[in-house]
Amino acid sequence: MTKPAHTAPPPDAAARRRAPPVLTYSVEQLPSFDAALYNRARAELSKVAELTVPPRDAKAFEVAAGHFFRIVSVEGPQVGDLNLWNAHDLAERFYSGKTRALHATHLSTGNRLWSTFPTLRPMATITHDTLDWYGWDEDGAGVHDVIGTRCDPYTNLLLKGMEYHHCCHSNLTRALAAERNLPLDEAEVHVHDVMNVFMCTGYTRDTHQYFMKASPVRPGDFIEFFAEIDLLVALSACPGGDCGASHSDDTAKCYPLKIEVHRPRESALVGWQSPPPNKYSRSHGTR
Ligand SMILES: [Zn+2]
Repeated sequence: MTKPAHTAPPPDAAARRRAPPVLTYSVEQLPSFDAALYNRARAELSKVAELTVPPRDAKAFEVAAGHFFRIVSVEGPQVGDLNLWNAHDLAERFYSGKTRALHATHLSTGNRLWSTFPTLRPMATITHDTLDWYGWDEDGAGVHDVIGTRCDPYTNLLLKGMEYHHCCHSNLTRALAAERNLPLDEAEVHVHDVMNVFMCTGYTRDTHQYFMKASPVRPGDFIEFFAEIDLLVALSACPGGDCGASHSDDTAKCYPLKIEVHRPRESALVGWQSPPPNKYSRSHGTR
């Protein structure tokens, strides 16, 4: 432990530290992941759209509830920064912090991507992940994190004293502005903390600082999501490439990412319902 301490530990410090960890949320009370239903649905898919996200840029696209979308590695190892919105209401967007608290720091098959308050519902479910073999490596790192935020020009300016315009934050802003015909300023406020698709990250053991390492993703790998509600999706191909060395500059080798949208047979979705908004009264103790 290298966290500097200025206070002498109390006599019972060891006993206090021995308090057993308790999972913060009883996730078994969440709606369970119905693997049979999703597997039945994904068994017979027709591709309805395909697009390419160019390196150091982003694309936005819609995915109807009940459809699947895949983010596919092509050409070379590349990390993607993912944003999700309710296609009909940009105020409902992906909530990476709550998703992390409910599931884990890194996501894979069976995990949901939850939306912000007051709706707090699954926006998407991860239904396949060809990198699920990776698990936790010897550095404590995993793939597809919800602990990072996104590379952005503001932090970059603070740290390096220069402007860079192809950070994921700016890429997502431009993509949303273009897709929804919004002024840049208006689009920017809707961009939010991402899911870092294919990114390999963790916290250092000694100082618990956020680190990244070269992504294990290779061409052909993909992660697949089921849209639980009508989605507007934006994906940035991070200027960090595989994020093995740097980001927020033009030095890393970068590759495109492919998006595929697939429709299942309608009958395969029997028994599935788009999740309703959270039913909390929103009275906050006032009545
Ligand atoms: Zn990035």
